[in-house]
Formats: sequence, C-alpha cells, structure tokens
Amino acid sequence: MFDSTARSPAGSTASITTVSDIVCQIVRGEIEAAVVSRDEQVVAFLDHRPVFKGHVLVAPVPHVDTLLELPPELALPLLATAQQVARAIGTALGAQGTFVAVNNVVSQSVPHLHVHVVPRTKGDGLHGFFWPRVRYAEGEMADYARRLAEALPPA
Ligand SMILES: [Zn+2]
Repeated sequence: MFDSTARSPAGSTASITTVSDIVCQIVRGEIEAAVVSRDEQVVAFLDHRPVFKGHVLVAPVPHVDTLLELPPELALPLLATAQQVARAIGTALGAQGTFVAVNNVVSQSVPHLHVHVVPRTKGDGLHGFFWPRVRYAEGEMADYARRLAEALPPA
C-alpha cells in the first residue's frame, strides 16, 4: 500500500510514479511548498490553509496512505520529526503548546499520511473545533477495552 511506483502500461521495466497527491507532488518538487524540513524519510511543510499560522504537516517521503500502512522503519522518523517541529513551534513562534493529530480516511483531505502539528496558545479560540464527547454506559468501557485488547497483537 505504501509502494509509490508501478510498472508502466507499456510493460517497461522502468518505474514510474503513479501517485499524484499533493504530498507526493511536493516531494517530487512539482508544486511549491514552504518546506521547513526535509530528509530521505520525512518532509515537513506549512499547511497552506492553516488552523493557525505555523501549522505544519509532517509526512513520510515514500507514499503511505494512512497510519495503518506506515511501515515500522518510518514510524520513529515521522514521530521524531513531529516532535522536533512541535518544539520549534514553541521556540520560534512562541506558541505555548501544540495540537498533534492524524486523520485516517475520514477527514483526511490528502490521501497521503500526514501529521498535523498546530500551534496552540491559551485563549486562541480553538474551542470552535468540533470534538464531541460521549459517555460510556455502565460496564461498556470494560467491554470496549477488552475488544480492543483482543484485537491487538500479543505482547
Ligand atoms: Zn503520496
């Protein structure tokens, strides 16, 4: 799922990139972005329509659809870059904190895994962010925990 190349229709052995989401286009230099960090594995650039100015998207350089397809060897580099960006948002922009989030499929505007790192400051007005909360019925919480625990790989 994270293979960004495919054989050409003509059967040539040359690899051609077929994925053309905006993250892949930024990686290939086909569209401009305000890149804040880039190495072989991870790219970080400004969201062009930020929740707040300084809102950064951190993405793996190889195409990965969602967090569920992220190969383990990219997991640490991705999170480490998100951490560094979150730190820089504090030191360089004076934010008091950050909101770090990944949308998978639902609300995922670009079909290439990206971590949002959003500057936060008390009183910044993000209470408009729709984040509904519900309550568990009696005994329901333990049932959810058990179902998830059973679906996780054994330790
Ligand atoms: Zn991509």
